[in-house]
Amino acid sequence: MKKDYDIVGFSFFTYEVPKIITMVKEAKKEGVGELWAGNYGSLTYGMEDYFDKIFKGYAERQVAEELGVEIDRIKHPMIIDYVGTPWGLKGFTLGVVFTNRGCTQTCRFCQTPVFCSEPYQLPLSSIEDVIRNYKEAGVEEIVIEDENFGMWKKHTDKVIDLFEKYDINWHPMTRVDILDGNLDDWYERGFSGTLIGIESLQQDTLDSIDKKIDVEKTLELLRRLEEKNAFVIGYYMVGFEEDTIPVIKKSISYLTEFSIDLLQICVITPFPKTPLWHEISEKYGIIEDDWGKWDTKHLVWDHPNISQEEMEKVLSWAFDKAYSPLKFLKSPLKFYKRRANRMGYHKIPIKIINDLITANTGINIP
Ligand code: SF4
Repeated sequence: MKKDYDIVGFSFFTYEVPKIITMVKEAKKEGVGELWAGNYGSLTYGMEDYFDKIFKGYAERQVAEELGVEIDRIKHPMIIDYVGTPWGLKGFTLGVVFTNRGCTQTCRFCQTPVFCSEPYQLPLSSIEDVIRNYKEAGVEEIVIEDENFGMWKKHTDKVIDLFEKYDINWHPMTRVDILDGNLDDWYERGFSGTLIGIESLQQDTLDSIDKKIDVEKTLELLRRLEEKNAFVIGYYMVGFEEDTIPVIKKSISYLTEFSIDLLQICVITPFPKTPLWHEISEKYGIIEDDWGKWDTKHLVWDHPNISQEEMEKVLSWAFDKAYSPLKFLKSPLKFYKRRANRMGYHKIPIKIINDLITANTGINIP
C-alpha cells in the first residue's frame, strides 16, 4: 500500500470482518491518516476499536460532508451482472437498479431497519437515466435490488411506467404480501421474476419474527408465479428456535416441489443490533466468536435441538436436495418461454445467440 493515503474507507459485511481487521492493521502500520467503515458489517460490535469513523446507512451525503464536498444529485451507476450457464458461459446480461432504500417493515432478524432507519425513495430522474443507459447498452433484463420494492405505491407505479417506456423486463426483490397484491398488474407491465423471502413454512415461526406473511398465501403465490413462468429466487431460513433436523428436512423436501429457480437456504443468524440478537443472546447465548462464520451458513448460537456439526450436515443435505443437475436447464427454459410469449417462438433461437454473444463479448447486437 502507498503511504500517502489520508483516508482509507472499508465497505464490508459481517462475515468479512476478520479480513477487514487484517487490512486495517496493515493500513495502520503504513501510517494511513484515518480509517473509515461502512455497510452492514460496520454494525458489528467492537468496530469502534478499529475505525476513526463509522457511517451508518447508505451515507453518500455524510461521506461528502466529511470530505467537504457538496452533492447536488447522486448519479445511479450502471451495475452489470450475468446469469450463468452450467458450461461456464454467461447466459444473458442483467442490469441492477435501486429504486428505494431501507424498509418500512421491522422483521426481528433483519438489520435493515437498524442500518437505514429512515427509508427513502430514489429520484425518478436518476432511475430513468440509468434505465436509459442500460437500454442503450442492450441490457433488457433488470434486477431491482431494493430491500422491499413496492412499499410506496405511487413511486412504484412511476418506476414501472419507466420500465414500460423503455420496454425492459424487471425482477424485483420484494415481499410476499406486496407481490401477491400486485402480481397480475405487474405481470402485464414487464414483471418477469422475483427475489422473495419465504423465510419459514411454520406460521408460528413467521409470527415470532414479525414477518407478517401467511404460509398458505406464500405457497399459493409460488404456484401463481410458476403459471406465469416467472424466475424465482426464494430465501428460506433454517435453525429457528423450534426447528429440529426432521422438521428442516421435511420443509426443504416440500419446497423442492415448487418451481423455485434458486433456493437460498440460510441459517437464521442473530445479527448485531437486531431484536433477535438481544433475544437469542440472553436466552441461549452466542457460541461463535469468529465473525468469518457469520455468513448464514453456520450456526452461531447455542441451539436447543441442533449442534453446529449437525447444522453443517443438514445444510449440505439441503443444498444437494434443492439443486438437482437438471435444475439448471429448467430456469433458462422458463425465461425463454416467457420471452416467446412476447416475441413469438420463431425469434427465440436468434435471441439466445444474441444474448450469449452480448453477455460473453460485450458486443451489443441491435
Ligand atoms: S421486509 Fe425484508 S428488508 Fe424489510 S425488515 Fe423484513 S426482512 Fe428486512
